[in-house]
Amino acid sequence: MLVTAARVLAGADRHVVPDGAVLVRDGKIACVGPREEVQRHALPDEPRLAHPAGTLLPGLIDAHVHLCFDAGPDPVATLQEQDDEALFTDMKVRAGQLLRTGVTTVRDLGDRNALALRLSKSVTEGKTVGPRVISAATPVTPPGGHCWFLGGEASGTDEVRRLVQRNIAQGAHVIKVMETGGGLTKGGANSWESQFSHEELAALVDEAHGAGLPVAAHAHGTDGIAAAVEAGVDTIEHCTWMTPDGFEVREDVLARIVEKGIHVCPAVSPHWPMLPKYFGAERAEAMFDAVRHMARAGARLIAGTDAGVQRAGFDGLPSSLTFYEHLGLSVERILAMATTEAAHALGVGDETGQLSPGFSADLLVVDGDPLADLGALKAVATVVAAGKHHELGDSA
Ligand SMILES: [Zn+2]
Repeated sequence: MLVTAARVLAGADRHVVPDGAVLVRDGKIACVGPREEVQRHALPDEPRLAHPAGTLLPGLIDAHVHLCFDAGPDPVATLQEQDDEALFTDMKVRAGQLLRTGVTTVRDLGDRNALALRLSKSVTEGKTVGPRVISAATPVTPPGGHCWFLGGEASGTDEVRRLVQRNIAQGAHVIKVMETGGGLTKGGANSWESQFSHEELAALVDEAHGAGLPVAAHAHGTDGIAAAVEAGVDTIEHCTWMTPDGFEVREDVLARIVEKGIHVCPAVSPHWPMLPKYFGAERAEAMFDAVRHMARAGARLIAGTDAGVQRAGFDGLPSSLTFYEHLGLSVERILAMATTEAAHALGVGDETGQLSPGFSADLLVVDGDPLADLGALKAVATVVAAGKHHELGDSA
């Protein structure tokens, strides 16, 4: 398959190749560069997708989704009403929605009964139309803690280790720990409160790293963020720097995040412009400032939407990315957050996230030029995932 476009964002640095092309062979990128050159390697009857006014870029990565939630007003209630088969059917539909938005890789950070792992396998085997799914399976939380209803309650280092082992045995790609409370869980810890002791957190990281798996820590609270960094986690989710009174970025902890290259996924809602209305202008601005501060300090931010929680639909990544434009980040950096940086954070940096020979053919073509206007990401024209071209009307 030969895909041509007015501009191609090529290589690890997404440099612009005007009038460019990508040649796809056996699910991989065989060749990328100027159209004149690349098409010389194409066969006479090579299938062609021509986008003379479009931009060809790597398929996007949403580093924080929950395929088991429905993005409705009460995702927990809906989940609890559904049996696994009904839920799995809905998860396949959501995977299709993500793909049609140009997302070719997602990291699912918490499901029930390893359904996201089942979906991951189904996509790999070509039975389900969807993005590559990197899955944490069941998140680890204390009894009654954040997202306890997903089935991952553990107390004390032995139980924590056993739960991590269970996830590993099921085939999890990453271990998710709910280090602090979260808004989705009624009656649980507050978002700023830590849920695990240092010993429990250290045991979790030890068990995961021992099996070669990274750890993603859900942490809103400043204390929880500090504990997660101390324990050696690999990514921090939300990283809101919440305290009982407001927000407080601890500079010593942020310095360690930067120094250790820990990835931070703020998991910004596609409806972020509504946050001042929900939280009040002052509180929202303090939240925004914390993210801006991390970005300026050189933290390795990655894109994610928390798709599935209230109001965060499975087509929201482009809207979520405009938040970073609002903070003053360059479009180049924002695109890196949703491609190369995210791929590295997910452990697939040698496989996807860039248009380079040998990488998986995960391609997105949009109308217009996202470097000039990030909003162009919403004008999806073509999606190719693992070398397979998906008609945008495809349902799962
Ligand atoms: Zn989440």
